[in-house]
Order: sequence, then C-alpha cells, then structure tokens
Amino acid sequence: MDYKELADLIFPEAKEISYYEEKYKKRDLSEGAIVTRFAPSPTGFVHLGSLYQVVIAKKMANQTDGVFFLRVEDTDQKREVENGVTGIIESLKDFGLTPDEGMINETEEIGEYGPYKQSLRKEIYQAYAKYLLEQGKAYPCFATPEELEEMRAKQEAAKIRPGYYGVWAKYRNLSNEEAGERIKKGEHYIIRLKSEGREDRKIKHHDVIKGNVDFPENDQDIVIIKADGLPTYHFAHAVDDHLMGTTHVIRGDEWLSSVPLHLQLFQTLGFKAPKYAHIAPIMKEDNGGKRKLSKRKDPEAAVSYYTEIGVPKEAVIEYLLNIANSNFETWRKQNKDASMEEFKLELNKMSVSGALFDMVKILDIAKTVISKYTAEQVYEEAKKWAETYDKELVTLLENKEYALQVLGIERGNVKPRKDIAKWEDVKENIEYMYDEKFFGKERDYEYQKVTDKEWIKKIVTLYVEKYYDEKDDKQTWFNKIKDLSEEIGFAREVKEWKADPEKWPGHVGDISTVLRVGLTSKSNTPDLYEIMQVLGKESILKRFEKVMKS
Ligand code: GLU
Repeated sequence: MDYKELADLIFPEAKEISYYEEKYKKRDLSEGAIVTRFAPSPTGFVHLGSLYQVVIAKKMANQTDGVFFLRVEDTDQKREVENGVTGIIESLKDFGLTPDEGMINETEEIGEYGPYKQSLRKEIYQAYAKYLLEQGKAYPCFATPEELEEMRAKQEAAKIRPGYYGVWAKYRNLSNEEAGERIKKGEHYIIRLKSEGREDRKIKHHDVIKGNVDFPENDQDIVIIKADGLPTYHFAHAVDDHLMGTTHVIRGDEWLSSVPLHLQLFQTLGFKAPKYAHIAPIMKEDNGGKRKLSKRKDPEAAVSYYTEIGVPKEAVIEYLLNIANSNFETWRKQNKDASMEEFKLELNKMSVSGALFDMVKILDIAKTVISKYTAEQVYEEAKKWAETYDKELVTLLENKEYALQVLGIERGNVKPRKDIAKWEDVKENIEYMYDEKFFGKERDYEYQKVTDKEWIKKIVTLYVEKYYDEKDDKQTWFNKIKDLSEEIGFAREVKEWKADPEKWPGHVGDISTVLRVGLTSKSNTPDLYEIMQVLGKESILKRFEKVMKS
C-alpha cells in the first residue's frame, strides 16, 4: 500500500487541493495592502486585550486599503458557548469595529473566502491533510490515551522533554500496510504531522513587533486532524490564513512560541507564510507585581464593562491607540480635534513588553472626548445608555429642551466642561438642576470658607434683596457680586486680598461660592452665571429662600 492508497482510505471523499487553490482567488489588492483577521473562539466574551488586537488589526487594514475579517475558531467544541458568535459581533459593533468580511451573526457571513466558521470547513482541512498524507508528510497515529499517558509518565520520570517526537513517536514509522489494516479493522486514530524539524537546530524569525527572535525548530509530530475529524488550531491556522489571503497575523504574544510550528506547517504545505505581529498583553499592577489583565479577577478586562458604565467607545479606542504607539499622545496634543482615523499607526513602533492598564487615563481621555460633544450628542448618548442602565436618568431627560440647556452649560466654548467621563456620571452632574430632585432629598451643602450660618444668610439675603436681577448680563452680574462683597466687608478682587489677606475675612470668590453652594449645594460646578440662566428666577428664589430659612 503506498501513501496515496492510505490517504484515499482515510479521506475517500476529500477533493484535490487544486480545487480550493482555484476557488479562493488571490486577492486583488494594491501593493502593501494588509489583510488581517480577528480569530476568536465563540465564547461570547471579548477581553480588552482582544479589542486591542482588533483596533490594531482593523486600523492596519484600513490604513492600507486592505481587509479585516472575522473568523470564528470553533474547532474546540468544548469551549463553545450558545450565541457566542453574536456576543462577539455585537461587542465589535458597539465599538464601531465591524469587520469587512466574515461572520455577521450566528449563521450568516459576507465575503468570498468563507466559510468563515471553522467547523464548516472540515472538508477543506481534510483535503489538505490528505495532501500531506499522500506525500508521507503526515500519518495516522493509533496511540490510545493509556499509551500516551504511559509515555508522559516515562518522560517525566526520566526528566526528558515531554511530547510526541523522535523515538517517542511510536506510530510514525508504521508501515502503510499495517496502518491500512488497523484502519480497516476500525481502530481509532488521529492524523499527525511527520515533523522534519530538529530540536538542536534553530530557526530565525523576524516578528513585526518583537523583532528578531530565534527558536529551536519544531520536532513534535503534532496532531493536525483530531478524532472528531476537525483540525487542531495550528493546522486550521495555516490552511485558513493561506486560503483567506492573510498577509499579517496580528495576535496575542502567547502565540509567539508557536511560530516555529506555524512556519513549519506553512512550509510543509507549500504555502507562503504570512508576517507575524505578536502583541504584548495589557498588564495590571497587583500587590506590587504585574500580571496580565484577567478575565476572572478584573471586571475591566471585559469590554462589556465599558459599555455598562457608559464610557464612549472612542475613548476606549483612543486609550488603546495610546498604548499601542507611544507617539499617539504627542500626535493628539498637536491635533486636538482630528479624528483618530488620521493617526498613522505603525506596528513596528509597538512596545515589546506589556503596557500597564490605567483606568484613570481611560476616564481622562473620556472626559476630553465628551467635552467635545455637542449638548445634543451628550443628550442622545446618555439617553441611549440610560434606557438600559438607569431609568431615573431617563426620567430626568424626558424634557429634552430643558435637558439640552442643562447639558449645554459650558459646552461649545474654548474651555468646555470636563466633568463627565461616562454616562453613569451624568445623573450626578445634572440632577441638582432639577427642582424636583434638588428639593427631593436631604442635601449636604458643601460650603467652603464661609460656613457660619448667619453670614451665609446675610450674604444670600442681601444678594436677593439688593443685587439679583435676572436680566443682568454676565459682566453686570459679576460686578454686582463684587459690590456685594465690598458691602459685606470682603475684598472685591482676589488679587487685592492675596496682597494683604489679613485685611479682609475673604474675597469675591468666597462670596460667589456661598451663592453657588446655596443654589446647587455643590462647591464645584460649571459656570454659575450659566447655571443661573438655566435655572431661571423662580427656581433661584426658591433655592435661596431655603438657605435663608435654614
Ligand atoms: N483562536 C485563537 C485564539 O483565540 C486565534 C489565535 C490567532 O489569532 O491565530 O487565541
């Protein structure tokens, strides 16, 4: 029995690989176009580290007029979760990172290089496995779990490198006759690669991110087709990325050590290998040490977390670009209003080691992002978020006209307000502008320098009786607060007071703080004049009255 006959016996139905080589045409793209992919298992969960990969992969494809596709790697059916594909697709959509090709829901896909779900590509993998069998580059292995366990125990006892290789590869040199006999008898088997690699030889590899690395060659006769007829990850990677025309494999660096095997598979199959770019993981400080951001331990590792607390997607993406290329920050300073699309990401500028996760930075970026929104945008986004996560906020936003006025305070000017980092913050930041909320609960009035009740009442009473006029423009309004300060014995100007602080009990700023706290209960708010414009006379008088009566 020759190899060809053995291959026919194993995969009688499999097509010749020329069929697939012709079916999946070389992509017609311009020079330098990057074709890359996101290839998750359908667990439904998207880790921030995966989103990071997606941001990079999609951007590299966009920048070069290439293609970014989604391939679902479901050959390990134990890991599958119901609706797992949908979960992933929805998360990508939430962040505006929809792929150009690939799965678009549990069952449908777009693109010419599918199926994009590995379990539907069984016959393709088998055709390529058959092709290797025909050349004696792969073989059936009949090792039982007991045999493999015995091998492992022996290797461990003798402190020898574990695995199925060299003399340990018991079925590697079985004659085709014997293999054929066993198959005909119905014995269980899997297909292994007949590795030509040698552990004492090195391969040199250039990783786009990690630079030059060298590794021992792979000498393990790894499994390529499992007992269920599906391929292993490694084999599917080579076949798929070849047929789908991937030029760059951009993935987590936990796969870096598999590169010798992957290059070997590409070579054995006669394929041109893609370029590899291995991304360092996002790290987290933990007890003085560092570890990978963990799905199990850190809620912020799940991308859904950002959607839940309402961090705008651009902020998360911008943060990820920040850690991807350290020159992003400078670029952003020089191009404050530019869209992120305009930033040119460079893979070879990515850090070799993992960046430390920084929530403060994400929220800081988010504040800037939101500060550039119009009141209408803030309104729409906050409302959309609130519909799922905060019914009380939905009620506050019901009166759109008023909400737009509230959200429009200190917005659209050179130094816009930066108090909102996430939609979750909106309620807290606007609630005091609503009488029903303001009077609806016991409030902690955050008075600062002037805390004496009698003084506070005196300031407020005088202001209401003598100075407040709802028709005043901003300058007049402020001059009147200065007049009030003087009348009460405080400095008119902060700088006067600073020059001789003993001379007055305080200055105009302390007086306006009393008014601010009296009206809002908060010491830190956006512009008081604008707040008063929005509140209107009736509400203002009611609020001051409360102070006077307290
Ligand atoms: N399915 C693999 C994973 O989830 C993909 C790795 C790759 O991108 O090649 O890690």
